[in-house]
Amino acid sequence: MYERILVRYGDLTLKGKNKRMFVRMVNQLVKEKVNSPLVKYERQHDRLYILLNGEDHVKVINGLNRVSGLSSYSLVHKCDRDIDTVCEQALEIMKQENYATGTAFKVEVKRADKAYPITSPEITQKVAKHVLSNVDGLIVDVHKPKLTLNVEVRLDGAYIYAHKIKGMGGYPVGVGGKGLVLLSGGIDSPVASYLAMKQGIEVELFHFESTPLTSIESAQKVIDLAKKVSVFAPRNRIKLHLVPFEPIHQKLLSHVDESYMITIMRRMMYRIAEKYAQNNGIMAIINGDSVGQVASQTLESMTVINNVVRIPILRPLLIFDKLDIIEISRKIDCYDISVQPFEDCCTVYVPKAPATRPKEKYCLKEEANFDFEPLVDQAVENVKTVMLDENTDINLPMLGFTVQEAL
Ligand code: ATP
Ligand code: MG
Repeated sequence: MYERILVRYGDLTLKGKNKRMFVRMVNQLVKEKVNSPLVKYERQHDRLYILLNGEDHVKVINGLNRVSGLSSYSLVHKCDRDIDTVCEQALEIMKQENYATGTAFKVEVKRADKAYPITSPEITQKVAKHVLSNVDGLIVDVHKPKLTLNVEVRLDGAYIYAHKIKGMGGYPVGVGGKGLVLLSGGIDSPVASYLAMKQGIEVELFHFESTPLTSIESAQKVIDLAKKVSVFAPRNRIKLHLVPFEPIHQKLLSHVDESYMITIMRRMMYRIAEKYAQNNGIMAIINGDSVGQVASQTLESMTVINNVVRIPILRPLLIFDKLDIIEISRKIDCYDISVQPFEDCCTVYVPKAPATRPKEKYCLKEEANFDFEPLVDQAVENVKTVMLDENTDINLPMLGFTVQEAL
């Protein structure tokens, strides 16, 4: 019955003269994510129709669920505008609905063409009457309906639908510039990547790997996570940078006070990330910090870590509840990968009593124990970059990493 999908743009109306660019970007993302040779697109100024043309609507909707900048979509049926046809077709649509006896129901009419000879209340009445006298089990409730049958009368025809599917919301990815996400193998940073993209920031992923000090599986996990988040990126692909961190990691283990290990490790990571970002025109660093979760994420720690860079650091999850983060992690299909138990550079030699209120002065003193600047430069120079999409078949030995047991 439904031969098309009505796609509604997100917050774009607020954007005034930028609106045209936003719409163009969203339309491009829709094409990339729906990725179907069958469907046809029909653009109208404030909406988009996807004519299914034989394509499976579930496949199309799965694609739309990956497009940032969409508020909602509906499977719709288009028909002639004469009132008898509208009533008949509305009834056909209701017959397809699986509703329980006693379901509260309402007809909602939009009359976009003000020259249409019948008023909205009259259309509502005629459609409701026709439906109610031909199907059983519905109760009219205009205040709290469980099922709303929508009829829109427009210049080119009438559009009928019964459901609205919520879209990703946000802004088209790419419209907000580029950020560098520090991606660990955990739950949080893939979620931070997703939320940044959802708000329009295109991201590249930056992972500090300490193989062979850490297991190769811990880095493979990051590849698998990057593949999962790539589906939200422009052109369905994402850059993952693998940063060789082992030389610095070794120095930290032998030269730095154990309780300051994580703080100074983080300070090194941010120095490297900032350099890389500046060399590559990236405007912000994004991480998965959530306040209070671990020692390195107290406000005191964040400040001391933040102090080594000037580039803005965005923390999309800063005040999120862990359960809400997990919910998003599941939604973007990352959770099962994130919880696989491989240690990364932050879990090897976890200090027994990490400083939760580290002092800048003491960091500087410890950092003076070894000459870290050349090592930071070396790490930036030796970054290995891979471009990934959902189906990229790649593993670390293919990239020249040594397979070795974790310590
Ligand atoms: P996640 O679930 O993302 O691993 P977490 O709760 O385990 O986060 P931490 O391990 O303290 O928290 O890391 C905080 C943030 O620091 C991560 O979200 C990530 O942005 C960054 N980070 C930590 N380790 C790495 C790494 N090896 N490479 C890149 N970024 C990292
Ligand atoms: Mg982690």
